Amino acid sequence: MRLYNTLTRQKEQFVPRAPGKVAMYICGPTVYNHIHIGNARTFLSFDVIRRYLRWSGFEVTYVQNITDVDDKIINRAREEGRSPAEVAAEYTEAFIAAMHALGIEDPDIRPRATAEIPAMVELIGCLIGSGHAYEVDGDVYFAVRSFEDYGKLSGRDIEQMQSGARVEIDPRKRDPLDFALWKAAKPGEPSWDSPWSQGRPGWHIECSAMSAKYLGNPFDIHAGGDDLVFPHHENEIAQSEACSHTTFANYWLHGGMLTIDREKMSKSEGNFLLLKDVLQHVRPQALRLLMLQTHYRSPFDYSAERLQEATVALERVEGAVRNLEWTIENAAVKLGGSASDDQSEKALTLINRIEATRKQFKSSMDDDFNTAGAVAAIFELVTIANSSITETLQSALLKDAVTVARQTIVELLAVLGVVVGSDEDRSEELPQELVTLAAEMAGYSGDKPAEAVETLLAVRREAREKKDWARADAVRDGLATLGFTIEDTAAGTRVVRKG
Ligand code: AMP
Ligand code: ZN
Repeated sequence: MRLYNTLTRQKEQFVPRAPGKVAMYICGPTVYNHIHIGNARTFLSFDVIRRYLRWSGFEVTYVQNITDVDDKIINRAREEGRSPAEVAAEYTEAFIAAMHALGIEDPDIRPRATAEIPAMVELIGCLIGSGHAYEVDGDVYFAVRSFEDYGKLSGRDIEQMQSGARVEIDPRKRDPLDFALWKAAKPGEPSWDSPWSQGRPGWHIECSAMSAKYLGNPFDIHAGGDDLVFPHHENEIAQSEACSHTTFANYWLHGGMLTIDREKMSKSEGNFLLLKDVLQHVRPQALRLLMLQTHYRSPFDYSAERLQEATVALERVEGAVRNLEWTIENAAVKLGGSASDDQSEKALTLINRIEATRKQFKSSMDDDFNTAGAVAAIFELVTIANSSITETLQSALLKDAVTVARQTIVELLAVLGVVVGSDEDRSEELPQELVTLAAEMAGYSGDKPAEAVETLLAVRREAREKKDWARADAVRDGLATLGFTIEDTAAGTRVVRKG
């Protein structure tokens, strides 16, 4: 497996610090607002990478922090006449709900900054003790020039940063580049005890302290959006390495920005779409599929049209999986019967394609998580599998091949977090009213909608055999009132949702 490391600016062979295990940290949100789809893109990219690492056999420990103390939270609380803790609690909950809505798995550990202050105070103490930080009136600053490697991640030269002039001049800092590790609280601000003042941590120190506490240094992968490379991640490295004298993180993975009309989506620019609003109109699987079609490091330009195209693609895949399932269930394979040469040939083509798809999926993902290549491989299999099922299956070999094709499509999409065709999924789609209908018409006593459908179809079949047309029609009409039609085909009967 090779991955692009921002630190070395090249693709490298991935070698975890402990064989078979990956320790991974991803910067979490500052919880003062709902997340937008740009934030969601970054979190989604690393969710997929985590899933793939696990599928590849690694045991992954995934840590994502919540920044629940910050100027933005304090300002919002002030505007709304609430406490910062209330604001943070509301948007932490909203963030977790939004992650679940998009099918992003919970991290193994989700530390909240306000619950981890002692680790930050300790790290700041270490930096003061070793001469890398200094206190002024209750504030503590990191002395950037005391850390020789400053700039190594972002590739910036310290002298250029200096003349870059955009740095604010603060008479209390020894150097304009220095940044705050601890801020003394102003009246009414949330604050914690420290040797320097009642105050709160700076943003950068949080991630240094929390990643070291939960993963140790060096850990394997540090991830985030590429807007965090400078100064956030550069500062994290400086703080951590100045104290620990060991490498902070071995691989730095940065996701490209989501843009809209080629402009970065951001709250401060006002050109943002909230994830929760977008998910009102589109299925999360479609949004996932859309985002997967661009490499995670490249910028991704969002548009409603592209999302619509992804929805169509998703429906095509789902339709194909349903057809495959149905064809398998209704195959008419006879023992000792001879299948047509055509079916045997289709079986061989399909078997070859399944193998090629697995290879292409793996080689794409092993190449710096090329999800676009992985999705393309799956889509090709969908096309070939679809063309294998234009008629009733009679060949046992073709039935097996179709079964494996279906399973491969579902499995590989699930590695990317796109869930299709699972039994739970389908039973979720089927309304509970089907159970009531089957209870009334067929004496069904279970509670599973899918079983209820089967029972109703069995009753209808029996009624038709007895030429009890009234009863057969009653079943059809009952299903129709719930929005389903019955399709009789050469290979059997099935129920499909109307239009
Ligand atoms: P923030 O709450 O602003 O710190 O952002 C949380 C995460 O979202 C960080 O990893 C950012 O890099 C990422 N992020 C912010 N804006 C975008 C964007 N337009 N596209 C992709 N990721 C973004
Ligand atoms: Zn961070």
